[in-house]
Amino acid sequence: METKKRVEELTKLLEKYSYEYYVLDNSVVSDQEFDALLHELIKLEESHPEFADVNSPTKRVGSIVLDKFEKVTHDVPMMSLSNVFNEEDLRSFDEKIIKEVGNVSYNVELKIDGLAGSVKYENGKLLLGASRGNGVVGENITSNIKTIKSIPLKIDYYDNLEVRGEIFMSKKSFNKTNDERVLNNLEEFKNPRNAASGSIRQLDSKIAAKRSLDMFVYSIISPENHSIKNHTKALTFAKSLGFNINPLSKVCKNIDEVVEFIKIYTEKRNNLKYEIDGIVIKVDQLDLHNKIGYTAKSPKWAIAYKFPAEEVITRINSITFQVGRTGQITPVANLDPVMVQGSTVSRATLHNEDYVTDKDIRENDYVIIKKAGDIIPEVVKVILDRRDNSSIPFSMVKECPVCESQLVRKDGEAGHYCVNEQCDAKKIEGLIHFASRKAMYIEGLGDRIIEQFYNDGFLSSIKDIYLLKNHREELIVKEGFGVKSIDKLLENIERSKNSNLDKLLFGLGIRHVGEKVSKVISANYPNIDDMGKWVYEDLINIDEIGSVIAKSIIDFFRSEENIKLISELKELGLNTMYTSNIYNKDEFTLKTFVLTGKLVLYTRNEAKSLIESLGGKVSSSVSKKTDYVVAGSDAGSKLTKAVGLGVKVLTEREFKDLIDR
Ligand code: NAD
Repeated sequence: METKKRVEELTKLLEKYSYEYYVLDNSVVSDQEFDALLHELIKLEESHPEFADVNSPTKRVGSIVLDKFEKVTHDVPMMSLSNVFNEEDLRSFDEKIIKEVGNVSYNVELKIDGLAGSVKYENGKLLLGASRGNGVVGENITSNIKTIKSIPLKIDYYDNLEVRGEIFMSKKSFNKTNDERVLNNLEEFKNPRNAASGSIRQLDSKIAAKRSLDMFVYSIISPENHSIKNHTKALTFAKSLGFNINPLSKVCKNIDEVVEFIKIYTEKRNNLKYEIDGIVIKVDQLDLHNKIGYTAKSPKWAIAYKFPAEEVITRINSITFQVGRTGQITPVANLDPVMVQGSTVSRATLHNEDYVTDKDIRENDYVIIKKAGDIIPEVVKVILDRRDNSSIPFSMVKECPVCESQLVRKDGEAGHYCVNEQCDAKKIEGLIHFASRKAMYIEGLGDRIIEQFYNDGFLSSIKDIYLLKNHREELIVKEGFGVKSIDKLLENIERSKNSNLDKLLFGLGIRHVGEKVSKVISANYPNIDDMGKWVYEDLINIDEIGSVIAKSIIDFFRSEENIKLISELKELGLNTMYTSNIYNKDEFTLKTFVLTGKLVLYTRNEAKSLIESLGGKVSSSVSKKTDYVVAGSDAGSKLTKAVGLGVKVLTEREFKDLIDR
């Protein structure tokens, strides 16, 4: 009974969400949440076929067909695609295919994020354009399809022909459309897919015409009628007739090549002019398609590899407050953990009081989150449809959550600040910043250790980092440490003394002075001793420096406390001069590196910036000019190519040794 109830519940939910998504072009749950519910229903129907309805969402494609359009029954159903979300499941798809029909080649294509469309020609003339609808019956959208400039109204081919493809809106048209909607007080489209879908299903085709839609053709129906034997040839044929074919498809001889293709476009997707949400992998030989077969919803000879989601929906469990190194108090949303772009996120920044109140973000709300600049998770929007009476309106704290001193909100600033110079949280954050990768890069001196050493009284100010060696005996006996780890840490601290001046300036945490400005001022004034002599006019004449930054720099170098700190750091042996290539190492200078496979010691971006900071450069493809290939686990064709060309291959460990040498 319980199972039956759950099956009914899931069916109802999935129908509701599908209606919102396909008919209203809106999403109230994330795709993952939708797919998880669908997956649960598939499993329940498998174990209890007696409860599986013929019209279950597990068997149906898309959604209801809008009555405002004439209905069109498709000659061949317009199916969906099964999805995989990781390499392992992709490889099991390949194994199943090989088991069924032996080795095959795959045609891999970008999965354009739009909606499926079908276009029919008779006697060389465009006869009908249709949407996918529920897969069996679609909507007659001929007059809108005709507004898409890349779809020919006439072709030089006179047999009956049906092509299918993805109707989409480029990122440029999407932004333009939304700008116009804002001007006209209309709600913005959430994404190019919704915008394309909303535009092509308009009764007034002038609207579709204005929105500059496009279509990439990805298949020809009944290719055997046109003597076509493989999918690649079908695409070439369509291209020869004047259709728009995405140029970035590739024939792969095996699944390793498919995986490599996926890796390339996972990195490049944001540089494309249109949005893609994955890669479609299709068995190239058309005669095998019927042999491999179909499920009720999708072909078994094709699969969509979906990219990790960029925007996901989750729930805020609580909102807490964090003290930064400048004393700024940041509200932070503690979330039900979710995967965003391949990593689990459980906290998101809420920036400041205005941000939270403008968006009316509350505890227990469901929210859309994304990684801003692909790194820091932030809340984009509250899903008001899912708010219930457990939501708790936000109120900003009045006192520092660590030292309890009264917070100050300065005129013209959105942030609240703790102005107590002795606040432990501020001091700890300042030390963490100083030792961080982008500043002095003291490996091993991370957040947790700094906090521990601070609480134990070993660290209070930056200078104490360089005095830790005086506490070696006490440190090595501490729980969780030992001779080896402490000696390594002390060695890294000593090495950091040679850091370039811009790293030191950035590490000192001067307000408004980021990485770039630190570099600019170091390049202009390469000796820290001159910095105290600066006058406002000197600084303001530098392009990147405005009045706020100039004032902040001058205040910093005039402060007695900072003058003392700088002279102590100099005495302790820290480099205070700027040399543009101080870091260059022979092994790296002007050398070209290619990174491949899965790295564990560094993220791709970290490895790249390390190589660049040491004087080398990173390329995405292997050639005779490549000096080193750094190969992590599961390295594919780049590694094979490197070996073939005799390029030096480094394991990740060897790469690290080269850096540390
Ligand atoms: P889909 O978008 O996952 O994949 C099938 C479609 O991919 C095809 O119909 C075709 O239009 C398109 N496509 C793009 N490029 C292609 C190419 N080169 N070759 C072949 N096809 C290509 O499937 P769907 O059935 O349209 O939608 C299901 C998806 O929609 C699921 O991922 C689900 O999460 C999402 N969904 C979300 C909600 C929600 O509320 N968030 C609701 C319903 C569905």
